[in-house]
Amino acid sequence: MPSLQLNAITKQFEGHTALHEVSLTVRDGEIFTLLGPSGCGKSTTLWSIAGLHRPDSGSIAFGDRVVFDHGRVDVEPEHRNCGVVFQSYAIWPHMSVAANVGYPLKLRKTPRAERDRRVREVLELVELGRHAGRYPHELSGGQQQRVALARALAHPPDLLLLDEPFSNLDAKLRDRSRQWLKTLQSQVGVTTVFVTHDQDEALSVSDRVAVMDQGKVRQVGTPTEIYEHPADLFVADFVGTANLLAAMVVEADGTHAVIRVDGVGEPLKVPHTDRRLGPVRICIRPENIEIQRGGGDASRPLDTLTAKVDNQAYLGDHYRYTIRIGGTPVIVTTTRPATTGELTVSLPPEDIRIFHEEADSNEENHH
Ligand code: ATP
Repeated sequence: MPSLQLNAITKQFEGHTALHEVSLTVRDGEIFTLLGPSGCGKSTTLWSIAGLHRPDSGSIAFGDRVVFDHGRVDVEPEHRNCGVVFQSYAIWPHMSVAANVGYPLKLRKTPRAERDRRVREVLELVELGRHAGRYPHELSGGQQQRVALARALAHPPDLLLLDEPFSNLDAKLRDRSRQWLKTLQSQVGVTTVFVTHDQDEALSVSDRVAVMDQGKVRQVGTPTEIYEHPADLFVADFVGTANLLAAMVVEADGTHAVIRVDGVGEPLKVPHTDRRLGPVRICIRPENIEIQRGGGDASRPLDTLTAKVDNQAYLGDHYRYTIRIGGTPVIVTTTRPATTGELTVSLPPEDIRIFHEEADSNEENHH
């Protein structure tokens, strides 16, 4: 049974549609991430789940329990049993760590001894057992964030809802916190909905990701599916670096397409199931572009291109080059440096994704 089901949730603010028929299924025990640019509706979705926003239509169920069904059921936030952590962790400065974490239990009138036991337990879980008596100003940002998480877990929630919880942390700590959250979540096993606008964060913490844009869900999939098989141009461009090139499909038989990339003489044959002909954009990731050394691969004469390097950067664990293909700047990454001012590259057909302009729609692609 799905842990959480959103069915055609629509929400308007003063005539502006923040969410348009958002439908999502979150499975039991997974970390499910809402990813998208600022203003796309991630927080509104999360708040609707928590009961802090009331959608205009649609329904929401936790397991088999309907918590919202427009006009018929509306369970108040305090009865939804969600643990919520926001970007501004909002732990109380005048309370010790233990008192902060125990507060939700106190509200529920949990007996003192049981409360103390549970506080110790969750503080151990977030590795703050030794800091129970400290006050928030005596903790680092990352530790304060973990107190907020411990508080959200104190009364075991049915759903853990995290809204950009690491965005106030520096890059290193943020990275460590993501790894740590993943481990913690697998220990606790609580179904988690995670909001972020950061694609690296989404790819690294999630079991599955929903990519949102302008109040709509563009694609739902595992990080690999989203990255390697983006459903449309928006997803391709938003998640990771996408080299997008204008091209024309000149033949298509349902298994392959023959395409001509603008400004490139030789056609390319690419696996593709769509039979439509006409103008398209193709997407290829920087790390998938192959650099040919020693004059190219004679077995693949059709996809070998030589181009001058426009600019280059050394990034510690890899090199990044900008070349031009048919006049369009294209980024190529590699772990081995190029030895000349030119690169001979090939575009492996299996790594090329083709997007028909009109297919750049808002259709959902559920997995
Ligand atoms: P961010 O990453 O910037 O937090 P988001 O994806 O979480 O963005 P939301 O906060 O869900 O986006 O906002 C979606 C849209 O709804 C935005 O256009 C926003 O301006 C609008 N909106 C959100 N809350 C309100 C509100 N209380 N009143 C009016 N408009 C709102």
